[in-house]
Amino acid sequence: MPIPLKQSVRIGAYLAQQKLRRREKFPLLVELEPLFQCNLACAGCGKIQHPEHVLKRRMPVEQAVAAIEECGAPMVSIAGGEPLIHPEIDEIVRQLVARKKFVYLCTNALLLERKLEKFTPSPYFAWAIHLDGLRERHDDSVCREGVFDKAVEAVRAAQAAGFRVTTNTTFFTNDSPNTVQQVLDFLNDELHVDQMMISPAYAYEKAPDQEHFLGVQQTRELFKAAFADGRRRRWRLNHSPLFLDFLEGKVDLQCTAWGIPSYSLFGWQRPCYLMADGYAETYRELLETTDWDAYGRGRDPRCDNCMAHCGYEPTAVLASTRSVKQSLRAVLQR
Ligand code: SF4
Ligand code: SF4
Repeated sequence: MPIPLKQSVRIGAYLAQQKLRRREKFPLLVELEPLFQCNLACAGCGKIQHPEHVLKRRMPVEQAVAAIEECGAPMVSIAGGEPLIHPEIDEIVRQLVARKKFVYLCTNALLLERKLEKFTPSPYFAWAIHLDGLRERHDDSVCREGVFDKAVEAVRAAQAAGFRVTTNTTFFTNDSPNTVQQVLDFLNDELHVDQMMISPAYAYEKAPDQEHFLGVQQTRELFKAAFADGRRRRWRLNHSPLFLDFLEGKVDLQCTAWGIPSYSLFGWQRPCYLMADGYAETYRELLETTDWDAYGRGRDPRCDNCMAHCGYEPTAVLASTRSVKQSLRAVLQR
C-alpha cells in the first residue's frame, strides 16, 4: 500500500492553504525527539552522546503535543533515541492521531512486539522500522547480532496486527549498489512493507564511526547504479520523484531546512535535525531568528556532504507543486 489517499489529499490541501495564505516558510513534517536514550549504540549515531542526566529525561506528553500544535505541521516523525523506551509514547501517538496528524513512529523494533498492544492501527499511524541492510549488514550497522531477525519478526507481527509498516534505511560507504538493491528488494518483495525511506548517512560530528559517511559524488554514484534496471519505479519508496532524482544526481537542489524542523527536549533545533546551532522555544521563533541563507551545501562546510531528506525533500515537494509535470510525477510516483 503506497501513501494512503487520505494522506496525499490532506498534504495537498495543506500546501494549497499555505499558498493561499502566502506563507513562505512552513513545516511539512516535524522530527519529534521526546528522549535521547536508546537500547542500542550504533556506530553512526549522532543522538545518544548526551550526558546521563539528559539521557534520563522524557518529554511530557503535553509538551510534545503543544509543540506540534503550535507549528501546525500535518506530519510527525517520532524518533530519538528509541521512542518505545518512553513510558508515555503511546499517549503521545494517541493524542497526535486524535488531532489528525500523520504519525510515523521510528524504532529499532527491539521493544515493538512487547509494546504492540498499546497502539491501535489507524490510517494516521505507521511504524517506521530501522533496517540498514540484510542480516549481516544491519547487525554490523547497529553493532549487535540478532537485531535484524528481531526487526523482521516485529515487522511481521505489526503487519499481522493490521498496522501500516514502513522502513527507514541509511546507507554508508560500505554499501554498494548491490547491497542497496538487496535490502530494498527484500523489503519491497518479501516483507511487503507499505513504504521505504532511504537516506545517505549524515556525518554527525559526535558519531564514533567517522570513516563511513558518503560524500555527494559517492551518494550520486551509489543511487544511480542502485536505481538502474527499473527498480526505482518498482520499489515503494516514500519519497517524491524529484528527491530521488536528486539522490542519483539528475538534478541539484538547495536545502530547505525549515520544511522538516526538529523539536527535542531542548526545544526547536537550529537549523535542522542534523546540526545543533542553538534552540528556539517556538517554531515561529525558530523561523524568525534563524539565518536560513547561511545553511546548505556551498554555504556551511558542515552541510557540504549532506543530501539528507530533512533538508532536500521539502525542496523537492515545494518544487513539485510549482510544476504540472512534477506534480503529475508525484501523483503517479514516476
Ligand atoms: S537505534 Fe537509532 S537512536 Fe538508537 S543508537 Fe541506533 S541510530 Fe541511534
Ligand atoms: S544541508 Fe540542510 S539539512 Fe543538511 S545539515 Fe545543512 S542545514 Fe541540515
